[in-house]
Amino acid sequence: MRVLIVEDEVSLSNALKKILEQQGYFADAVYDGESAVEYAKTVEYSVIILDVMLPKLDGFEVVRRLRASRINTPILMLTARTTTTDKVAGLNFGADDYMTKPFETEELLARVGAMTRRTGDVIVDEVKFKDLTLNTNSAMLSCGGESVQLSHKEFEVLKTFFYNPTMTVTTDTLISNVWGIESEATDNNVEVYISFIRKKLKYLRSAVSIKKIPRIGYRLEVN
Ligand code: CA
Repeated sequence: MRVLIVEDEVSLSNALKKILEQQGYFADAVYDGESAVEYAKTVEYSVIILDVMLPKLDGFEVVRRLRASRINTPILMLTARTTTTDKVAGLNFGADDYMTKPFETEELLARVGAMTRRTGDVIVDEVKFKDLTLNTNSAMLSCGGESVQLSHKEFEVLKTFFYNPTMTVTTDTLISNVWGIESEATDNNVEVYISFIRKKLKYLRSAVSIKKIPRIGYRLEVN
């Protein structure tokens, strides 16, 4: 499981990274709000640990932007502030849990653990984009009254687009999300699966298509 740590106090960030890695998580660290949004939109994290007071964008704004872009990764907010209004503001913007600094390592790990378990249990079974609905349990893609079954890889590729609907998804991101960073998959593997998905979109008569952006990747387009 991969965790994103967004904390501008480098010593705290390093400590968090170490603790999480000891527990078997992969942890990426960023130190400002803009990078947090960028990372969370391109990599699929199990949990985001997010400080409130950050350079560039504060934690509340980060949550707001992610939720507006349909990034539903569970977010644990960290803050030195303790007032109820802040707590309510954070949760209203779509954060899932809240911890005030300073905190005990055990409590942090317990909450991260609970949140990752929660993602497994939560039945988020539909992701929508324009006229398309993707069922994340059955991997069925529907448009109007028609449905088609996606293969596992087609599903993983399309899901990456649905989670980044306004962005060009790079070929590297697709390879690392779908085939894994260690894999030997190439641009050709991606191209093949994109062509399978295009056929299914055509069959469904969807207004959505996948456009190739030369030398970068692919993007969803609405005709
Ligand atoms: Ca801070």
